[in-house]
Amino acid sequence: MTTKIDGKKIARDIRSWVAEEVASRVAAGAGVPGLATILVGDDPAGAVYVANKRRAIREAGMRDFHRTLSRRATQEEVAAVIDELAADPDVSGILLQLPLPEGLDSAALIDRIPVGKDVDGLTTASAGLLARGEFGLRPCTPSGVVELLDAEGVTIEGAHAVVVGRSELVGRPMAQLLLQRDATVTIAHRYTRDLAAVTRPADIVVVATGVPGLVGPEHIKPGATVIDVGIHRTDSGLTGDVRASEVDGVAGRLTPVPGGVGPMTIALLMVNTLRAAAWAKHSA
Ligand code: NAD
Repeated sequence: MTTKIDGKKIARDIRSWVAEEVASRVAAGAGVPGLATILVGDDPAGAVYVANKRRAIREAGMRDFHRTLSRRATQEEVAAVIDELAADPDVSGILLQLPLPEGLDSAALIDRIPVGKDVDGLTTASAGLLARGEFGLRPCTPSGVVELLDAEGVTIEGAHAVVVGRSELVGRPMAQLLLQRDATVTIAHRYTRDLAAVTRPADIVVVATGVPGLVGPEHIKPGATVIDVGIHRTDSGLTGDVRASEVDGVAGRLTPVPGGVGPMTIALLMVNTLRAAAWAKHSA
């Protein structure tokens, strides 16, 4: 029997908790936390993601600052908007929606976001704090995975965790977060020779490759916890990097796609915005 991890419910509980925290902050006379989203260009997927994040922010009782820039915006124009939001004390967090239109240097623009407002946890400074295990804002998707594991009562300490994928956004910070929680961590990637031999001993397998259906029962130890970060749009709906129907009955726990990791990413963005507001207060 494979238990499906209900990411929607866990995310809903986290978002209710954030809303309560915001309300008690405000009742105590603190400012309302605010998130500024920046959308450059007219990519429809990016617009949907930003709309969902803005709705979640408003539902949590936080302030929604938003900027849309034309797809012809220059590096300097995007930088100027980031700098303005960085200087605004009402803006607790800044999120630059990726990918940016071609011709813009994403890494340089992300690094303009002050570390205390980096709610996506993607700046070089945030990555450094994570690598050193110091206080900071962590990337939302891997933090969401840790929350899922905790909510399900999965023991991380001492577990053998294999992370498949080493991107800056998911795989790398995922491995670091699991390491900080005292897992024994292995990272696999596109050059890994025998993926099944690497993943089969693992107690926890996190798959974030962007390769639909890459992982099947041959990769999974019976009873292991399998977290599928992948999202792929197909004619029959969303699917992940794991062949869920085949892994069903082998894994002990599995995150469905949709309804597993996806909702956690937005929930953790809410948590990070709240943390950023609290961090600003302490460093003010
Ligand atoms: P990416 O393309 O930046 O990185 C993919 C990683 O997978 C690379 O490190 C690569 O080495 C590895 N890889 C590729 N093929 C492999 C193979 N055959 N065997 C082993 N490793 C392989 O992708 P990303 O940004 O990390 O995203 C991964 C997936 O997660 C995508 O499907 C993306 O849509 C999804 N995603 C979901 C969420 C969410 O909220 N659920 C958030 C971010 C990304």
